[in-house]
Amino acid sequence: MSAPHPGAASPSIACVDSHAHLAMKSLACDIPGILARAAASGITDVLTAATSLEDAPATIEIASSDAPLRIWAAVGFHPHEAKRWQEGEEERLAPWLRRERVVALGEIGLDYHYDLSPREAQRAVLRRQVCLARRLGLPIIVHSRKSASDVAVILEEEGARDHGGVIHCFTEDAAFARRCLDLGFYVSFSGIVTFRTAGDLRGVVKIVPEDRLLVETDSPYLAPMPHRGERNEPARAAVVLQAVAAIRGENPSRLGETIRRNFHRFIRRSEERPRS
Ligand SMILES: [Zn+2]
Ligand SMILES: [Zn+2]
Repeated sequence: MSAPHPGAASPSIACVDSHAHLAMKSLACDIPGILARAAASGITDVLTAATSLEDAPATIEIASSDAPLRIWAAVGFHPHEAKRWQEGEEERLAPWLRRERVVALGEIGLDYHYDLSPREAQRAVLRRQVCLARRLGLPIIVHSRKSASDVAVILEEEGARDHGGVIHCFTEDAAFARRCLDLGFYVSFSGIVTFRTAGDLRGVVKIVPEDRLLVETDSPYLAPMPHRGERNEPARAAVVLQAVAAIRGENPSRLGETIRRNFHRFIRRSEERPRS
């Protein structure tokens, strides 16, 4: 009864959470409550991303369950997991990517901050997955942390422009944002935009054209201020929307509608009626 209701304090504005990890233990144990709070906060769609083949089944199961909002899934090898990629992994990934609720390949990318997989392996696995996405005609969800120039080169060389994608939880600089926008990519911002030290990032929030903008929580990580350090959940996409709208000097309701349209264009699915 005393569970917190993130984001529910203000009147709800329709928006989406373009990136969360609902299959992670801290969230998977509380899915009905999490989804109810998200719906009460105005969230109409959540995209839940797997990080390897291991959490793909749980991710798709959650996306296929009855819910008060629409849940979409993505499957891919996160850069942290690149060291576990085996020869022929594409053929194991492909059947998951053809499943009903799966709308993107991700999350994939490079992470030179944590370096949990050797960089050479990260780059090779990113290239292979960009190729696979092109073969399957799927948009990609890209993670880039302190790796902007290598990510940009790989996306450009592997023809990512053809099938598009999003740079999720954007933390790189404006030059990288412009390079990705030139490739036709979307740029998604998380609760990091509310952190005191994120002044440069707030500058990038202002230069992304309205029709390429997305917001996300990256739950269970990156709770926005004043909840930093707590478990995050999709309801707080409403907080991120408010912050992004304030930075850009825009009306949050109108921006929320634009972001919802962007999201459905990104996943190439028109808006459906909720399934329940
Ligand atoms: Zn990420
Ligand atoms: Zn993520």
